[in-house]
Amino acid sequence: MESREAKSLDLIVKVAERCNIACTYCYFFFGGDESHKFHPPYVNEETAAEIEAFLDRITADGAVENLMIYFHGGEPMMAPKPVIARIARAARRLSESGRVADLGLSMQTNGMLVNDAWIRFCADLGIGVGVSLDGNEAANDRFRIDKKGRGTYRRAVQGFRRLAGENGAGIDLHPGLLSVIDPEGDGARRLEHFSGEIGAQRMNFLHPDGGHDQGIAPAQVAGVENFMLGVFRAWVRRRDSGLRVRFIKDLLDTLLSDEGARTCPDSARRLSRILTISSNGMLGAEDTARTLDARFRDIGHVRDFDSVAQIFATPALVEMQQAAATPPAACAACPWWGTCRGGTFTNRYSAQNGFDNPSVYCDALKAFFEEVSAWLVRGGIPVEDIERRLILAGSAPEAVLGAARAEPEPLRA
Ligand code: SF4
Repeated sequence: MESREAKSLDLIVKVAERCNIACTYCYFFFGGDESHKFHPPYVNEETAAEIEAFLDRITADGAVENLMIYFHGGEPMMAPKPVIARIARAARRLSESGRVADLGLSMQTNGMLVNDAWIRFCADLGIGVGVSLDGNEAANDRFRIDKKGRGTYRRAVQGFRRLAGENGAGIDLHPGLLSVIDPEGDGARRLEHFSGEIGAQRMNFLHPDGGHDQGIAPAQVAGVENFMLGVFRAWVRRRDSGLRVRFIKDLLDTLLSDEGARTCPDSARRLSRILTISSNGMLGAEDTARTLDARFRDIGHVRDFDSVAQIFATPALVEMQQAAATPPAACAACPWWGTCRGGTFTNRYSAQNGFDNPSVYCDALKAFFEEVSAWLVRGGIPVEDIERRLILAGSAPEAVLGAARAEPEPLRA
């Protein structure tokens, strides 16, 4: 039987291809893909209608059980509400009719434009909201600046707090925080700040973009490792408060249950089934992968496709599905492959080898996996259970068992 993930589809809809701020690391505006300059600033009514018809066509054959739509930008709160509402309502109808079993709607915002009208709008349509923030004021304002070069921290935190209930509408949307890892930053302090001072209960930390052609320095990899371990150690201290950190939860789901481990290949497959819809209606691969090479963007207009199968048969998406399922040569003998999957697509990529590389942050990932598994073993989880789950997740048995036999650390704490 096909898993739910095998029938999943995640759509990142670029409702706005403009932004009201100018974060220095932004992959969308400064990552080398200049196509946004030639696209409409916002999805218009005509394109929204085409997206609505597209959703109807591609779900008609039952190929999408699990649909997630992210309203994205640029800054999505710059887009006209009616076009977002039109797409959201079309998706809701598919869910209510039973054609799509699971539907999620989400928006990722910089928080600057949050007001009561947006809060009511998201609440009415069932759109979850995440706010991007990179730490305390000093850390955030190094990179997340507006077009006049001013820091955005205070306005973003104000937006987060409004979303979390400090608004005239009396609504708590339970927003999450999304943050990019700063190799020079302190992960523990960032988590403490988000949880203790801002009051966030859900958060995630992303690896900086960049692959093997970007010359990521060893010091940067070491910085990412320190940051990840800092987040993990701070989470351990606060874990009883119900604090959820996505990248830690994903690993624990794998290492703590056979069922969680078995879903790893499907979760990886789901990552290769993310599509981006530009404001002009053109489809591309997952948003950050679109910056890697022109072949990952503009694979066709939504009006050109009648089925999910047709979309995922296009060469660029076949390449990404193969990458999700196949370990790079350097990862084949790694005990962590099942859960790691070589890192993100962008961190794996090089022009010469495509996705046949380990993550540029491989050493940081290994250190994180090793520390978490050692912590679990110290807490009483049998090392044999962890080994079995890594194999269930897709790691080669000889890699997992061999690592444990030859070198007791890290699998045996
Ligand atoms: S830890 Fe490194 S070698 Fe292992 S799967 Fe991840 S990227 Fe590949």
